Amino acid sequence: MKLISENELSEAAECLRNGGLVAFPTETVYGLGANALNPLAVAGIFSAKKRPNFDPLIVHISDLRQIEQLFELPINAAVYKLAEQFWPGPLTIVHRKSAIVPSIVTSDLDAVAVRMPSHPIAQKLIHEAGVPVAAPSANRFGQLSPTSYKHVAKQNMEIDYIVMGDDVTKAVGIESTVVAIENGICTVLRPGIITAEEIQKCLLDFEVLTPEKNTKLVSPGLLQSHYSPLKPLYYLDDETVLTENTGVILHKKEDGVRYSDKTIFTSETGNLLEVAANLFSSLHRMEEDAEVNEIYIARTTEDGIGKAIMDRLNKATFQYRS
Ligand code: AMP
Ligand code: MG
Repeated sequence: MKLISENELSEAAECLRNGGLVAFPTETVYGLGANALNPLAVAGIFSAKKRPNFDPLIVHISDLRQIEQLFELPINAAVYKLAEQFWPGPLTIVHRKSAIVPSIVTSDLDAVAVRMPSHPIAQKLIHEAGVPVAAPSANRFGQLSPTSYKHVAKQNMEIDYIVMGDDVTKAVGIESTVVAIENGICTVLRPGIITAEEIQKCLLDFEVLTPEKNTKLVSPGLLQSHYSPLKPLYYLDDETVLTENTGVILHKKEDGVRYSDKTIFTSETGNLLEVAANLFSSLHRMEEDAEVNEIYIARTTEDGIGKAIMDRLNKATFQYRS
């Protein structure tokens, strides 16, 4: 595994073309990429992450025309509408796939998930590689998503390169919104910074559903337990007993809230974009702090972006709830 700077991208791009594995920054979280059209290379992602093969990957592109290679033709007009408004950016679109997409990428489903990231390093790397890049988050399966190259490095996965970018905390910081376009319906499979309301505004004549309302369509890989730190993580409430080894993560500086010596704020004002951007890095800091034995985290609202944040927190705390 070799750490490289953004000035050495051509080395990493060549590695991708030749079937290797490269971790790189995106505006959501760090991705672990492989040539999406090379099934052996993609198999490497599953084995490096110990990711179960029922969990399909998102294919990253740098040019809109690549969807004509990846999606079955004709492509639904809604895809172009969404792409025009939200790409490059944190939106993943699932649509029927073309024959060229190996089934290992989609866990044997007929549809493939595609996204065009806005991070300049991601764009340049994919462009130089000249191939679409399948990339889940660059962490071992089930663990916290990485928002810094250091978070990737500490995972000790068997990969070829890590491209060092800035910490992602200034950007989105949580995974993309995932929508599926099928039979005139758009289903929001995974909440993110781009909300269902914004999607509905973009696709006026389309029905936009949340997964609870479209029970026919399930997204594999959306597990109840996910994104977990290696220490117990619980929701903070009035009964929480704070000791000197309790880490506390809050999203707003408020009177009346009890702080422990180990308190981190994802935002001082409760700004949900800031909370999302700092969420995983705060959890990583608690995970790395040898004096913290257990972590308590405050809930946020479930409205707007809060839905995406609470989705991650519900999964991260799941295994510790009775
Ligand atoms: P990750 O790469 O870990 O951020 O997550 C990718 C997620 O996108 C998967 O866990 C699925 O929930 C969703 N996804 C990817 N490909 C498909 C697909 N072909 N159909 C439905 N959902 C998908
Ligand atoms: Mg992941």
